[in-house]
Amino acid sequence: MTHSRRTFLQTTAAALWVPHFSRVLGARSGDFDVISPDSEPRVHTSRSSKGGEPPKPAFPVHDYHVHLSNTLTIDQALQLGKERGVQLGILEHPGPGYPINTDADLQHYIDGLRHYPVRIGLQPVYPGWSKAFSKPVLDQLDYILMDALTLPNPDGTYVAIWQIDTHVDDAEAFMQRYMQFIEQVLTTERIDIFGWPTFLPVPIARQYAELWTKPRIRRIIDLCADAKQPARPGKKLAIEINEVAHVPDENFIKQAKQAGLKFTFGTDSRNQNAAHFYYCYQMAQRCGLTEGDMFVVKGK
Ligand SMILES: [Zn+2]
Repeated sequence: MTHSRRTFLQTTAAALWVPHFSRVLGARSGDFDVISPDSEPRVHTSRSSKGGEPPKPAFPVHDYHVHLSNTLTIDQALQLGKERGVQLGILEHPGPGYPINTDADLQHYIDGLRHYPVRIGLQPVYPGWSKAFSKPVLDQLDYILMDALTLPNPDGTYVAIWQIDTHVDDAEAFMQRYMQFIEQVLTTERIDIFGWPTFLPVPIARQYAELWTKPRIRRIIDLCADAKQPARPGKKLAIEINEVAHVPDENFIKQAKQAGLKFTFGTDSRNQNAAHFYYCYQMAQRCGLTEGDMFVVKGK
């Protein structure tokens, strides 16, 4: 791919909706708008329900991907959850560059939330993250969600593929490397929920249907369904349906459902978008998700 081609793709991606594009507008830092991929006007506040919005499912709904921030305190998050009839799970990132790096940090985080009616989780970014913490403290967490968006380089650095300047010169080579890391996350990490499944970086987002081949989808679903992985004995992984990135797509969700996998909804929000679902409700409706298809995190 030539430089000009790449520039063209990036410019095009920036100008038009591509699936998952909202991620690069700053999902990690919050405060972004989301554009609907279906050209239906996106309703940014759920205080009034407008026509055309998919209905809230009949089963209890949880947003297991809420980050507290200076634009979202625990009390504000709880208020939004109450207004929208959604229970919350709070996540924080551990590791270098993030607030939780020691047992003491983790204990402080857990203790600070334990008195609130929320589930308490972690969203690790780097493989091997759990080595920094002792088991008795880790065991107090209600759940762990991890994505495969921070790809390790051979030299020990990382590529955050959700960033807008992610370059993909060779889509096939990228997919092979991405699949390898996905497999690593799904087999070696002690996690409960696979976050952002099938997200693609901006330059290749439009090739979603062709790059997520049947064997690749099958492989991810099989690994999530494999309860014999030593890192998580007896546990299958739940699939996050991600409100910000609009992943995974309907086809993936239907296949995962058929394989008996369970799902969670997540806004990955740090602001008033917490507990506000459009894509997740749409997928629930289109894929016929019922209460039995949803993964429910138990409190400790
Ligand atoms: Zn997150």
